[in-house]
Amino acid sequence: MSICGGIAGARGRNPIGIFIHNGADSRNANTQFYRNWLRTHDLENGFAHYYVCSDGILQAEDDWNRAWHCGQTNGNNEYLSIEVCQSMGDLEQFKKNEEEALKLAAQKCKQYGIIPNNDTIKLHREVYATSCPHRSVEIHGGSAATKAYFIKRITSL
Ligand SMILES: [Zn+2]
Repeated sequence: MSICGGIAGARGRNPIGIFIHNGADSRNANTQFYRNWLRTHDLENGFAHYYVCSDGILQAEDDWNRAWHCGQTNGNNEYLSIEVCQSMGDLEQFKKNEEEALKLAAQKCKQYGIIPNNDTIKLHREVYATSCPHRSVEIHGGSAATKAYFIKRITSL
């Protein structure tokens, strides 16, 4: 059983793409932090499939289940979600986490036959009024440049 226990329901088919998020938490937000956080918070307020932290990757929900991660029905139902964690902390650590998140995204694209492009690799802010993924956007110079970077990197990994 996954940490989130399929609370958002089963998708019933493969995911069609991936949302990249920034978990707006401090440098102390490691996998243990998220494991505890997920168990002590109302999951209806949001959770993702994967949390990429300095000490590893926490899988909170199985790929075949949905997650409440982006505030948009199609995105929640059909897409995987990856949080790049510790986005409020050290820049170098955040960049490492982001790279690991993109590696994971590349693996998932291969696993499910997803071609990385504008429709399959999504930023949270594309579908919802949020700054997420705020640190990635800051580093890469805006939404369009961030998306282009993600797609290029995922394709090459
Ligand atoms: Zn987000």
